[in-house]
Amino acid sequence: MSQDLSADVVVVGVGAMGSATCDVLARSGVRVCGVDRHVPPHALGSSGGETRLLRKAYWEHPDYVPMVTRAIEAWRELEERAGSRLFFETGCLYGGPAECDLIAGSQRAAAAHGLDIDRLTRSELADQLPELVLPRDFEVLLDREAGVLLSTQAVEAMIASAEGAGALFRFDETVIRIESNQDGVTVVTDRVKIHAAHAVLTAGPWMAQLLGRVDLGLRVHRQVFSWVEPDRRGRSNEVASPRSLSSQPVPAWLVETQTGSNNGNYYGFPMMPSHLGCPLSAAGLKVGYHHPGAETTPDSVDRQAREADHGWRKKLESYFPVASGRTIASMVCLYTTTPDEQFIIDQHPEMARVTVACGFSGHGFKFASVMGEILGELAVGNPSPLPIDFLGLQRFGSS
Ligand SMILES: Cc1cc2nc3c(=O)[nH]c(=O)nc-3n(C[C@H](O)[C@H](O)[C@H](O)COP(=O)(O)OP(=O)(O)OC[C@H]3O[C@@H](n4cnc5c(N)ncnc54)[C@H](O)[C@@H]3O)c2cc1C
Repeated sequence: MSQDLSADVVVVGVGAMGSATCDVLARSGVRVCGVDRHVPPHALGSSGGETRLLRKAYWEHPDYVPMVTRAIEAWRELEERAGSRLFFETGCLYGGPAECDLIAGSQRAAAAHGLDIDRLTRSELADQLPELVLPRDFEVLLDREAGVLLSTQAVEAMIASAEGAGALFRFDETVIRIESNQDGVTVVTDRVKIHAAHAVLTAGPWMAQLLGRVDLGLRVHRQVFSWVEPDRRGRSNEVASPRSLSSQPVPAWLVETQTGSNNGNYYGFPMMPSHLGCPLSAAGLKVGYHHPGAETTPDSVDRQAREADHGWRKKLESYFPVASGRTIASMVCLYTTTPDEQFIIDQHPEMARVTVACGFSGHGFKFASVMGEILGELAVGNPSPLPIDFLGLQRFGSS
């Protein structure tokens, strides 16, 4: 161990949540050090793949709505600091049986928070996205304030903003353990010891390794998604050509096929204009299946997408035939799920000066900007600026 360092707060893992936390803390004058085992932004954890969907009428739990509302404002503020656009309010279409989680839950969240969500007729759906072909008995909703985030660029922008405000980053350096003592914490990496008043653990799919014998019920799942060339030979011949977001916004979409729990959602993103710097999303339609894939670990996962990984594509193409074109690229990404697929934001069960933020369960990216604000407050001993009790460990009876 060559040297000892000190900081007010150490953030372990500088992915989506960690970069946001470093940014908030550094801008409020806190001496923050962010450590990452890789060089972010990278695609080895949960944040790779150019884009992420931001939904507002949040079917998973209405209490996410105030968080996503503030997240959008905070993304806009980051855009100002970065000098580039990161969030595109394209809207998002939701299709499925009336009672399914996606439709009923989105309506519940919209009603609870007075959101602008529209129930569409078939001809209104055809005006929005004629490529989406849904059974007659499916309900269709339009979440107008939803949209697409440029996720890789957002992480890059948060790191740059944090660095500009004085954050210290140590990349290509792995945190091996955290020790708690009377004065604070010591974060031990493979190169140094960092003494701090507080640590925030945002290690994504590596979180269980970092927590050691503390079992929060986290599971890591291998997820494969693809970019496909729009099939111009299909029934949507005339409308399948790439459309520019700037000239004509095209909504993203999610489809749930049946009622009952854990059915998963098929999803698709609009193509993005090439000048935005997302080459795969400029070349093709991003499509995927939101459903926990095979269980794995971040160190043993097969990072190569295989033919057998695309079993979901046939069903997706039955709703979105334009996606049956050539596959341009596929990517393996990791979900870290909790038993109820809601996030975990709480104090470490054994270390009062350590905050854990994990289990973002395949839907966390949109919240990164507000999560940075929440974790930033918790790290300096203040209460969360927004209600987060529903994300606490007490719901599992373990805190
Ligand atoms: C296929 C897919 C699609 C998704 N779609 C959406 C979507 O449309 N909308 C949405 O909101 N969310 C979506 N998500 C979820 C979202 O991307 C994740 O919730 C979010 O990226 C999690 O961020 P994180 O910071 O927790 O993890 P990460 O970004 O993976 O960051 C963790 C970081 O910790 C570092 N690290 C780990 N261990 C250590 C250690 N010991 N020492 C130092 N550094 C360490 C890693 O290198 C990594 O950089 C999707 C996820 C996937 C995989």
